[in-house]
Formats: sequence, structure tokens, C-alpha cells
Amino acid sequence: MSSPLAAGRVFLERLSHGADLLESLTDFCARNSIRCGFISVIGATSEATIGYYDQARHSYERKTFREEMEIVSCTGNVSLKDGAPFLHLHAVLSDSKLATFGGHVFPGSKLFAAEAFIQELAGEPRTRKPDSVTGLALWA
Ligand code: ZN
Repeated sequence: MSSPLAAGRVFLERLSHGADLLESLTDFCARNSIRCGFISVIGATSEATIGYYDQARHSYERKTFREEMEIVSCTGNVSLKDGAPFLHLHAVLSDSKLATFGGHVFPGSKLFAAEAFIQELAGEPRTRKPDSVTGLALWA
């Protein structure tokens, strides 16, 4: 049973044109000492890499979209892994026909423009540890 968390600082940030979605948010959290939190992003990418976790093989399958996409919805969380802020993000992206694709966000998602809402959660941060059943780094 984990201890309850409380609302901490709230940030509304414009992310830089050309920046990597996952890396720029991870860097923002590190610079602002955000160790636990919730993230929501909308915007657009010029290139994006998302994927799904193959549960039998315990590995991620990735797909890169080298086209303009809307970030219809991107949500995730911040916790600690190896003592540093670690972001877990999922995104639903839409193409020029408004067809949507969704999955786990990987580095390699280049921003055209994006607006992020970051809610810090104060209290005992969640910490990721390797989980042998799933093969993932889950909250201990
Ligand atoms: Zn994921």
C-alpha cells in the first residue's frame, strides 16, 4: 500500500519547436526537481515514435511516423528510476486524415509545437524497480 500524495506545484509550459517530446519533459522535471507527478500534453509532432509492449516477448515494438501528426492526447506520470525522474508517457496521435494511432512514447518524437500541463505530486515519490513477471520497471 502506497502513501497518499498531495498536489504540489503546477506548471504550464510551452515546449520548444524541434525538441524531443520525452527528452524535453524529462529535462524539465530534472531541472525543476519534480520527482513525482502527472503530465498532460497537446500539440503536434513533425516525427513521432510510439509503440506497444509485446507481453509474450517482453519487448517493445516501435513504429516511427515521419509525417506531421497532431498530439490529440498525451498523458503520463513522473516517478523515480535509479534515483532520477523517469517519465512514462502514452500518446494518441492523428494524421492528415485524422486517423489515430496510439501507444507508448519513445525518444524520437520531434515537436512542431506543444503545450504541457505538469502537476507535481508531493509526498513519497513512486520508485520503479524491475518486475520479473512483466519484464517492466514498475512501481515498487
Ligand atoms: Zn507505456
